[in-house]
Amino acid sequence: ARKYVVKNHFKGVPKREDFELVEYELPPLKNGEILIKTEWLSVDPYQRAYNTKNKVPYDQFGFQVGVVQESKDPKFPVGTKVVTHKGWCDYTIAKDGVASGPVNNVYALPDLKGLSPSLGVGAVGMPGATAYFGFLEICKPKAGETVVVTGAAGAVGSLVGQIAKIKGCKVIGFAGSDDKVEWLEKELGFDKALNYKTVDIAKALKEAAPNGVDCYYDNVGGEISSIIINQMNTHGRVAVCGSISSYNDDVAKMPKATILQPALVFQQLTVRGFLVWEWYSRWQEGFSQIVDWIKSGQLKTREHVTEGFDNIFDAFIGMLAGENTGKAVVKV
Ligand code: NDP
Repeated sequence: ARKYVVKNHFKGVPKREDFELVEYELPPLKNGEILIKTEWLSVDPYQRAYNTKNKVPYDQFGFQVGVVQESKDPKFPVGTKVVTHKGWCDYTIAKDGVASGPVNNVYALPDLKGLSPSLGVGAVGMPGATAYFGFLEICKPKAGETVVVTGAAGAVGSLVGQIAKIKGCKVIGFAGSDDKVEWLEKELGFDKALNYKTVDIAKALKEAAPNGVDCYYDNVGGEISSIIINQMNTHGRVAVCGSISSYNDDVAKMPKATILQPALVFQQLTVRGFLVWEWYSRWQEGFSQIVDWIKSGQLKTREHVTEGFDNIFDAFIGMLAGENTGKAVVKV
């Protein structure tokens, strides 16, 4: 089997030399274990964000969709499609029930009603659950409210905006290119999308949301988030999902934070960070709703597919640089 090992703590943007592709012999299966051949791998921002929290070297972690090739667990006969979190590897051994969250566990791919199995690492996988639970449980959107989402054309953000539309909200998205902006407005039905790299964010948001912002789903953090939070209405809710704008930075050396407290106090905002693992026991509930929305045409998905196990590093770096519209995946 082959797997990618991370050798270093990244300095800035991860480099190819920080990874090593290792070939090794998988041991024979023990009772309860299954051998999985990877078909789809996921590249995600948290693979950057958690790097400095881990001791190096470590096996690169991440989700995959695969097919069972050998089985010593009757729940997963040969041929079953499964989702597991075993990182960037072409073959792996997994066992059900060894953890209370997805890490090291395995579950059968949800019933996708004929949709692509790759969705198991996207809209019907961890990013889907992140959008669904993070938005609905924390923002608690009401019809007619104004929702802002950053990272709007990405895996999570594109779903959040569409779920907000389904819930009857007005949706404004920020993304990093004019093509992404066009996709959000023309294909996904966002009321307004803005290229954060070219607009005056405060001014453009004031125009797009003259009555203020009720819910903010924050994928990127940093300065743009401070600007948005300063335009929020009384009792607004902020779901802090990610802060990709600083993942490649040495946070300790960054300038001190913009002062947010007046907006938080006087607008009486609720700001809550979360990790999607929190709702792991309910993921399947979110997945079945998402599949139904896709089947009924209310939710659209898009993937940015990189072909080949050997190109996963490029897929990862490309995603961090914003090359993806929709979910970045690797077809093994
Ligand atoms: P995306 O598909 O959105 O891909 C990452 C995107 O981030 C890029 O396409 C790029 O789009 C944008 N980006 C990169 N650098 C910057 C920057 N400096 N400022 C603003 N945007 C930037 O990834 P995901 O949907 O998988 O993840 C989105 C966020 O959600 C991440 O912060 C991630 O860590 C977080 N997350 C959190 C989870 C949780 O449990 N809390 C679970 C899953 C994800 P653009 O062209 O628009 O710049």
